[in-house]
Amino acid sequence: MQRTLIGSLGEQKGKEVQIKGWIHVERNQGKMAFFDIRDRSGIVQGVVFGKPDVLEIAKTLKPEYVVCMTGVVNERPAKMVKEGVTNGDIELEITGITIINEAETPPYDVTEDSLGKDEEVRLKHRSIDLRTERMQKNIRVRSEFVKRCRDFLMERDFVEIETPLLTESTPEGSRDFVVPSRHNPGKFYALPQSPQQYKQLLMNAGFERYVQIARAIRDEDLRADRGYEHTQIDVEMSFVEREDVMQVIEEMVTSAVEKMGYTIKQKPFPVITYQEAMAKYGADKFDLRTEEDKKNRILAYAWVVDFPFFEKTDKGTWTFTHNPFSMPKKEFLEDLMKGENIENILTSQYDLVCNGFEAGGGSIRAHKGEIIKAVYKVMGNTDEQIEDKVGHILEEFRYGTPPHGGIALGVERNVMNLTGEESLREVQAFPMTRRGQTAVMNAPKPLEIEQLIELGISVKKHLDD
Ligand code: ASP
Repeated sequence: MQRTLIGSLGEQKGKEVQIKGWIHVERNQGKMAFFDIRDRSGIVQGVVFGKPDVLEIAKTLKPEYVVCMTGVVNERPAKMVKEGVTNGDIELEITGITIINEAETPPYDVTEDSLGKDEEVRLKHRSIDLRTERMQKNIRVRSEFVKRCRDFLMERDFVEIETPLLTESTPEGSRDFVVPSRHNPGKFYALPQSPQQYKQLLMNAGFERYVQIARAIRDEDLRADRGYEHTQIDVEMSFVEREDVMQVIEEMVTSAVEKMGYTIKQKPFPVITYQEAMAKYGADKFDLRTEEDKKNRILAYAWVVDFPFFEKTDKGTWTFTHNPFSMPKKEFLEDLMKGENIENILTSQYDLVCNGFEAGGGSIRAHKGEIIKAVYKVMGNTDEQIEDKVGHILEEFRYGTPPHGGIALGVERNVMNLTGEESLREVQAFPMTRRGQTAVMNAPKPLEIEQLIELGISVKKHLDD
């Protein structure tokens, strides 16, 4: 007999079926045994009665046992029907049970929501935590959101291209995670803080429309909405103005979330300047929802534009606010090239905010070497330093670079808004603990001495160790 998914048992009323899954709940009542059985598609109540041999096996079943059951799909008597619950109108009369695998008592009850439970335990046993209903839903919402965005772009001529993970430092304003090179002792790769430079090089290569569901890895202070690793829907387009990128992304997000059943507060998304946002909300990320909207899970998107290009560092020098590869707004290009009026130069950056979070950000890029150089000059770099930092891009950009721009949407932050979660860890399958320990696996950990020797690395013992 072929397996039937539990979620589609309603279509099999009166028939004998075979299901496979986990014992979700077991209620043994002597002459009868009741179960809730779970698979990826749902839960069904099963009952064993009048079959001594089946009852015998049924009595040995415990929560999380993996089982194969045969049974007849019966309609429940009218007064037993649970309205609004999948399979609330049926019950499986179990005729046979095979135990596929036993289970020890799990570290906690997976029938209960694990939100707020000890995070160390949840992450140590993450595969068990992911069995809970809310976590199953979150990970599936994430998958659907990404799929819908990707499909939207692929239908519009975008090409999905992977870029390297072992690379050179990219300036996204964070610290790098570095990887030692066995073949080049004393030298290190950096994991990408974003595919920024590669996607620009792909525009140089003539792809014109690039997308990647890209991992970005940044050594930052961990917060509820920030981890070391995140995923971004990373996009770059050639021959576009700021409004073109904003429009494609607005359509993509609208189509994705509306197909998923969400409501958007205002369409087209309001566009607010950075100055207005600061004056009105005191921040460039703001929440446009009313209390009522919050209850109804409304998504309030807005664009923020016209950010200052540069800001002062603690040392009094200039640094970029968002992205050193951005084009300034046209009216400030001359100032930038002359290195004048720095504090007033506005960038072509656009940020997408939603429900108080930065949901994405991007810009039109400088597609001429001299503009990139001018930015690095403002930030106090000598010609040699510029060559060292971005020489590779300057070289490639000598051979006919199209005007281009792009954006990256943070998958976790967007999915947090869709699911109403307040921590990024609730929408990642295997997040880190707040102290930067990996879920399930034991990292970071010391290397074996042989590995250190092979890599040409000696480790200073930390004073606290
Ligand atoms: N590279 C930027 C980021 O990762 C996004 C972009 O400008 O496209 O935030």
